[in-house]
Amino acid sequence: MTARNLLDFDLAGLGAYCEGLGEKRFRATQLFQWLHQRGVSDFAAMSDLAKSLRARLAEAAVVTPLHVASEQASADGTIKWLFDVGGGNAVETVFIPEDDRATLCISSQAGCAVGCRFCATGHQGFSRNLTTGEIVAQLWHAEHQLRARAGGAERVISNVVMMGMGEPLQNYAALLPALRTMLDDHGYGLSRRRLTVSTSGVVPMIDRLRDDCPVALAVSLHAPDDALRDELVPINRKYPINELIASCRRYLETAPRDFITFEYCMLDGVNDSLAQARALVALVCEAPATRIACKFNLIPFNPFPGSGLHGSPRERVLAFAEVLREAGLVTTVRKTRGDDIAAACGQLAGEVQDRTRVVERLSGRRVPIRIQSSVAAEVPR
Ligand code: SF4
Repeated sequence: MTARNLLDFDLAGLGAYCEGLGEKRFRATQLFQWLHQRGVSDFAAMSDLAKSLRARLAEAAVVTPLHVASEQASADGTIKWLFDVGGGNAVETVFIPEDDRATLCISSQAGCAVGCRFCATGHQGFSRNLTTGEIVAQLWHAEHQLRARAGGAERVISNVVMMGMGEPLQNYAALLPALRTMLDDHGYGLSRRRLTVSTSGVVPMIDRLRDDCPVALAVSLHAPDDALRDELVPINRKYPINELIASCRRYLETAPRDFITFEYCMLDGVNDSLAQARALVALVCEAPATRIACKFNLIPFNPFPGSGLHGSPRERVLAFAEVLREAGLVTTVRKTRGDDIAAACGQLAGEVQDRTRVVERLSGRRVPIRIQSSVAAEVPR
């Protein structure tokens, strides 16, 4: 019998699992706290569980951490982990400390099938979905490592953004228990406002998320019209802007925040003209069908080989932002973080060769490692 990875379960799932072992459901709460609040993976150390249960767990279950291929720390405090998830795939997780919060950017898939033009991960294609355990293990590792380094602090990570590699809403079955574990008071106890799912616009799944587990929502918009968005974010051909914004409006009915964050990657000569800024204003402020409460986050593009794209000059980004602000739209320009360790948005592409060698050296294997890019995290305020 294959041992079950307990990081795959939210609390309800762990309760059902414990019942299957002939235990009372409330034992699952104790076990869940040991796993997620205390970061303990050794069943023998779970001192308030009956010895018989500890023995059964040791036979039937495991707590599977991710294999750390590398860890890099930036001078600005950003930490980037590269996790080897087997089969020649590696994913990244990025910790971004700031004065008033500490954010972890988590990956949901090895690769991505959406294929956004400006994204290194999209260029590399899709490999596989991460399991719930692999999604949660990124937080589990970061939180407990950082707590230990801080001398046993109560909690380090205040915000999580599902904004790393992959389209989280195309891995919904694994995502949902992971979100529930992050929100659970017996788990990580994150507030719904501080847990953000970022999507390229998978409309039916935005509706599912609204019904199942409403958290903060960020949407990768990147263009003011369908013609351009079809090119930059190909999923737009299936779910065009009108449908996407309609689903965002439905989402706001139950969302923990009263606005949607639109992400907009600034691409030189592609989507960054003042006319396009005005078209964005018309889209979200003036057109009755698409008017919506929203904020904009303008993201500098980090070029990668083969993209054929360039980042907008700083002055154009600021002028673009000014048009949005003059229309009353709250607009932030994302700071780049972790530049010295290539942890900013899309920077991974330039690092592929180096990291491939790191993973090979650490794993002792000579398999081609597929490195995936995370998108730098900035939680909307
Ligand atoms: S931006 Fe997000 S959805 Fe688009 S290809 Fe990259 S990882 Fe996938």
